[in-house]
Amino acid sequence: MSHSTSTDQRVALVTGASRGIGKAIAHRLARDGRHVVLMARSADSLAAFEADLKTEGLSACHVASDVGDPKKLAADVEAIINEHGRLDIIVNNAGVTRDNLTMRMTDEDFEDVLRINLTSAFVTARTACRAMMKHRFGRIVNIGSTSGVVGNAGQANYAAAKAGLIGLTRSLARELGGKGVTANVIAPGFIETDMTANLPEEVRKGVMAMMSLRRFGTPDDIAAAVSYVSSDDAGFLTGQVICVDGGMTMS
Ligand code: NAP
Repeated sequence: MSHSTSTDQRVALVTGASRGIGKAIAHRLARDGRHVVLMARSADSLAAFEADLKTEGLSACHVASDVGDPKKLAADVEAIINEHGRLDIIVNNAGVTRDNLTMRMTDEDFEDVLRINLTSAFVTARTACRAMMKHRFGRIVNIGSTSGVVGNAGQANYAAAKAGLIGLTRSLARELGGKGVTANVIAPGFIETDMTANLPEEVRKGVMAMMSLRRFGTPDDIAAAVSYVSSDDAGFLTGQVICVDGGMTMS
């Protein structure tokens, strides 16, 4: 970790920041003036991204961590708080899919997806909420999915994890609201990243037909929503699920 936080600069942890949506979120929050702590498994990608951000004059450091390992994740978040004396914003973005029809889905594929996508968000929030409450400011932003709102065939594990994030988020919003800490879900629809790169053409066409805006989203579309929800201006917004999905679900 390297450290160039100024005393009143907000510190933001972004998990899954090495590529895709998390990378765009981290870039956006750094441009918003945050000191951004980049987290993912691949230390090399994080180090290269950190260097790019610093070249732009932005403030960042990185921590290589597997969010699917709850003990290590808790220790890493604790170390971030000790290092900076604060953690103002958490964006739980790291996520994976292991799609299969329910009849073929293994216990391992179900449990892995829940641990990586859902338990990790509980662990970061549990570890950081005391420091957030002490500072009477916190923004917990959980990256859900429209699959967690309306379900999706072939994604029983992923949809359950993302729906679980909604319950977790609303409970955090109720527990922590009195101390100035908000918790919200940003639920992307279909966004152009590695996660959606291999969708068959007929699936892409079907998805496109459901979207009012007739295009897949970009990581920057999600980053813009996270920028607002994690800002000081969003202090009266909590417990919400905001679907950034081109008008696909309108839920
Ligand atoms: P992506 O391109 O596959 O990137 C996933 C990120 O998560 C990478 O930075 C990856 O880095 C990190 N990651 C994966 N497993 C991890 C682990 N065990 N520990 C730490 N980091 C881990 O995915 P994406 O499309 O950007 O998706 C980001 C989030 O948006 C996910 O929560 C996803 O469910 C959600 N989402 C995406 C879409 C979409 O259409 N793309 C739609 C709805 C919701 P390493 O491999 O280096 O660890």
